[in-house]
Amino acid sequence: MYIMDNNYVIGIDLGTTNCCAAYYKNKAIEILENVEGGKITPSFVFFCKNQLTNVVVGKHGAEMGMRLPENGIYEIKRFIGKTYQEISLQNNLQYFSFKVEDNDNDPIIVIEDKNKVLKKTPQEITTIILQKIKNDVEAKIGTADKAVITVPTYFNTSQRQATLAAAEEAGFTVLKLLNEPNAVALSYFFKDNVDDKCYSLIYDLGGGTFDVSILKRTLNSIDVICVDGDTSLGGKDLDNLIIDYVCEKLEKEYEYNPKSDRRNMRRLQTECQKAKEHLSFTTATLIILEGFVKDHDKIEISFTRKQFEEMGEKLFRRTIEIVRRCVNNSRVAKDKIKNIVLAGGSSRIPKIRELLSAYFDGKTLTKSINVEECVAKGAALQAAMFSSNSEQRLDKIKITDVIPLSLGIEDNYGEMNFIIKKNTPIPTSKFKNFVNTHKNQATITFKIFEGERLEATKNHLLHKFRLDNLIPAPPRQREVILTLNIDQNGILTIEAKEKYRSNVKEVKINYFRVTQSDTIIEKVLLDSTNHEAEDLRFLIFVTKKKYLTDYCTSAMYNLEKLSMKKHEIYALCKTTFAHVDSLKGKNEDIIDELTEKIKEKCDPIVKKYRFKYMQDL
Ligand code: ADP
Ligand code: MG
Repeated sequence: MYIMDNNYVIGIDLGTTNCCAAYYKNKAIEILENVEGGKITPSFVFFCKNQLTNVVVGKHGAEMGMRLPENGIYEIKRFIGKTYQEISLQNNLQYFSFKVEDNDNDPIIVIEDKNKVLKKTPQEITTIILQKIKNDVEAKIGTADKAVITVPTYFNTSQRQATLAAAEEAGFTVLKLLNEPNAVALSYFFKDNVDDKCYSLIYDLGGGTFDVSILKRTLNSIDVICVDGDTSLGGKDLDNLIIDYVCEKLEKEYEYNPKSDRRNMRRLQTECQKAKEHLSFTTATLIILEGFVKDHDKIEISFTRKQFEEMGEKLFRRTIEIVRRCVNNSRVAKDKIKNIVLAGGSSRIPKIRELLSAYFDGKTLTKSINVEECVAKGAALQAAMFSSNSEQRLDKIKITDVIPLSLGIEDNYGEMNFIIKKNTPIPTSKFKNFVNTHKNQATITFKIFEGERLEATKNHLLHKFRLDNLIPAPPRQREVILTLNIDQNGILTIEAKEKYRSNVKEVKINYFRVTQSDTIIEKVLLDSTNHEAEDLRFLIFVTKKKYLTDYCTSAMYNLEKLSMKKHEIYALCKTTFAHVDSLKGKNEDIIDELTEKIKEKCDPIVKKYRFKYMQDL
């Protein structure tokens, strides 16, 4: 039975730095203010001293965290759904004023208070933030237990699952995890009517992440054409540059280094962030540190926009490079991109706007939407499309996503065999044939990775599975077809099938690629363009390795057929194979040497007996 539900469905931007909630009602989008009266809630959780069960979230929590930094938890989105190893690699944990411990490779936040110790997972902290949002929203509009929550495009499956679990724990039924740029696109398109198909680029630079996407809009659809970004690039990195500058100055002029003092570091972080934000509106500011250094009541450090721009230049340019890469990958001509839409607090920085506009040959950027609210507004629109409340009626807009990272399989040589390339629209289905390497090989194991690197293990391992009972065959003569299918709900199905036979194995992975969830660990995210030289070296190595191992296995197969297993060449093939198989590093020289040696001895026999299955000799 279908039950009419008159509650509102809300949209939530669950940001690294700030959260924002909104809903659509009677043809208008409204930002749902928090109980403090603010449109934006800092993603800050403070555990009160002497009473750790007492939690303050948002603006006041952030203020209290200034006084007692060990008890204030922030930027938890950088940690959610990740292993301890990942977060310690990607985040400079020393800059955080709270304690993060390694609990069997799960990160755990530890708050100590006299004789009490509180341990919370990033997911639990996220739940606390979402509970506050829920309570505040419900104080305004009554029960709000259904929501659309936004996530960065580059969030991987485990990050998405952890976000979903946190939301459910907070009492929400999540109707969709919406990719942030799609939310921006929705809110922007809601405002500006389109007459014809047009392309837009969304540039979203927040506190911790950077997202670019190029979309095509028609009257009732949005097609994502191309996405790119960097999950460890944001306003926080700019703050750190200023912090380093101030620390150096304090060290030099006052012989004081605050880095060992969590409380002062937290205060410094706030001061530097404020100075940075001011410099978007003025050309000079002061960083004021009161009671910071012994015997110096007040230290004033002047800081100008010019200084800041010099510091940030590399980072600003990096974002433009990612934009360039995204435009190139999209194959949409630069001048066909009609709207350049800014989102995220850091997109307020004038220099960034200048560089971005210059890249688009002086084009005026679209600033008609509020950079801090547009994600929540888009989420609100998407939410309304799911709502059965008559006040939330809204025509559906179809959003077609693309996969942001390539999917592929590791072959026996460690090379990534790409099956679905990044930016392929979904749903999609692609297959590839694989062959056995060894004689009479009975199983093939597939490791499915996502990422762009040529060396498979440099990418993110998504799943591992095995097809057994292959019919015995000579090397490379047994074919297995591997099919990757992503349906419109983002469910990835992997199927391996032995050719000419009904030996099939299938697995389904909740990959949530499209509508609910998605991608990758940051280190994988680093696009292959940053690693061209390394990838090329790997490719040369692996090509040579492949040739040599194929040579050995095929020669051995032929020798066996000729009952020549006792022949010295057979032994040589065997040891060479073992040697090359064990080579982990990219040691090309050894491979060259081994190849030369074996060919010199073996080629004459190969020719004499007309060996079969040998590659181009
Ligand atoms: P998130 O998506 O990470 O939650 P926001 O989009 O709200 O965050 O952006 C927060 C970031 O934007 C912070 O690093 C903040 O310092 C920065 N920011 C906000 N306003 C400005 C400004 N006027 N100039 C420069 N940076 C700003
Ligand atoms: Mg954001």
